[in-house]
Amino acid sequence: MIVVIGSINMDLVLGVPRMPMPGETISGGPFATIAGGKGANQAVACARLAAGRVPVAMVGCVGDDGFGDTLRTALQDEGIDDSHVSTIAATATGVASILVDAAGQNSIVLAAGANALLSPAHIDAARELIAAASIVVLQLEVPLETVGHAIKLAHSLGKTVLLNPAPARSLPVELLAQVDYLVPNEIEAAMLLGADARGGAVVAAQAEQLLALGCRNVLVTLGAEGVYAADAGGGHYYPARQVKAVDSTAAGDTFIGGLVAALATGATLEQAISLGQRAAAISVTRRGAQTSIPYLHELDAA
Ligand code: ADP
Repeated sequence: MIVVIGSINMDLVLGVPRMPMPGETISGGPFATIAGGKGANQAVACARLAAGRVPVAMVGCVGDDGFGDTLRTALQDEGIDDSHVSTIAATATGVASILVDAAGQNSIVLAAGANALLSPAHIDAARELIAAASIVVLQLEVPLETVGHAIKLAHSLGKTVLLNPAPARSLPVELLAQVDYLVPNEIEAAMLLGADARGGAVVAAQAEQLLALGCRNVLVTLGAEGVYAADAGGGHYYPARQVKAVDSTAAGDTFIGGLVAALATGATLEQAISLGQRAAAISVTRRGAQTSIPYLHELDAA
């Protein structure tokens, strides 16, 4: 089983001709509500790309509002076990308010809502679920204390731990030492090391530094450039497929879903990176978060 621990958000996506000025009212549209949140996106990507070969469960929190109900149903519709998705009373579901201008630039405001209330006690309540997992997947859109607690528990139970350290922030070193797969993008890799330089020529050296902190595998995603993967034996670039990208929302989440689905079904790391990249290349040709994540059969067709 794959267990994903993390955020569940409703994305409120509104097209605008240009970003409004402070105090200004402008007309925009179209408007769409799209299921998102890095945790839920990664759970959905795992489910669509594992295609029933391995079960997927989600641990997270929603509020007791309509968005919470819709997002829970969206997980259930993908066959994801939501028994450890808690509904928090008198609390709003997490939302991301996203303005997209005519040039395709985004401005995003996140309101964590119920995601901020995912606690170590919720993780302890999911102990049996985590004990049944082969791989546990985490990101940083829920409280760091909870992420740390979950990593410690999963590691102590001998589980494979994958951490996507997003959004970018610094992290305690002892936490990284319990991570089997660290999957940052270039910005997150630099932030973990407190470095100014990022991407390009420094990626291999930064991956080395992250390995030295104790992670067993580091996979730095490089957008259209692909992925740099390193372990104690050395590093290797895996180029991305060339596609016409229209929206990179959830590209990283889709890559992780494909990677994890493949690893959980016995693939080699190389095969898993390939599946993740093929899926992510499709996701960038489509708009939105969970709306852009492909199913396994679409990769065969592509
Ligand atoms: P994040 O969304 O977390 O910032 P990236 O932008 O690095 O992550 O993208 C994750 C992965 O998605 C990349 O490693 C690559 O495989 C794929 N990807 C992203 N952008 C493109 C693109 N324009 N063309 C093809 N693949 C892409």
